[in-house]
Amino acid sequence: MAGEVYSKLITSKNPKVMNASSRNGLKIDRIIIHHNATTNKNTAMNTWVQGGPANTSAHYEVTPTEIIGCVGEQYAAWHAGGTGGSDVPRIASPNQRSIGIENLNSTGGPGWKVDPKTVANCARLVADICKRYGIPLDRKHVLGHNEVTATACPGGLDVDEVVRLAKKGGTSVAKPTYYKAKGLYEVIAPQINGYRDIGFKQKRAVRFVKGTRFYAEPEKYGKITRFKTSMGYFSSNKAFVKFIKAID
Ligand SMILES: [Zn+2]
Repeated sequence: MAGEVYSKLITSKNPKVMNASSRNGLKIDRIIIHHNATTNKNTAMNTWVQGGPANTSAHYEVTPTEIIGCVGEQYAAWHAGGTGGSDVPRIASPNQRSIGIENLNSTGGPGWKVDPKTVANCARLVADICKRYGIPLDRKHVLGHNEVTATACPGGLDVDEVVRLAKKGGTSVAKPTYYKAKGLYEVIAPQINGYRDIGFKQKRAVRFVKGTRFYAEPEKYGKITRFKTSMGYFSSNKAFVKFIKAID
């Protein structure tokens, strides 16, 4: 879907089209925490692809080193609606009003543990979402899946710990990564903005939309790199652009 909104913390975006629907005008006021019930992130994310048999999805997949954007925040993902029948969700319209965060397990069942680094990344994402939507950072608004519907999810993941860490701003290890080679690149984010300066202080009117290909030469900027192009400076964050081919 076009123009997906994601946290700036994402390290990449899953390019597959995931299950999503309208929020029907509802405001986002809850975050619901899940575990994958698998130690393989791709197994988890592949079940969320549109047209698949599982009818599930989530906005984010979190691992010890990654925060992956899967469903844009402006859409409802299918993560907390319950299984039907007597499994009636304990809050109204859970999917339409929430952001769902899935977390990779570090062990299988019955413990279904989650790596502390994943918990820390999840906490940082929770802090960011609460800040952007004005959601109170507490246990009434940040819920485990099992507090919404009848499920064993989120396994061994401690939601109290997520909220505790989030209040401290989280201590994430998922850092964005940047391209360093001269070459042809393509935009994979909805758009990236152009700047006159490498410090991104002065925005230009020019922007590259998704699918735009451009030649770029990375330039060092502190500990990271940014793209110098004929149209100005752009981000070389791997979450926003992909490498097509090298040039001399
Ligand atoms: Zn769940």
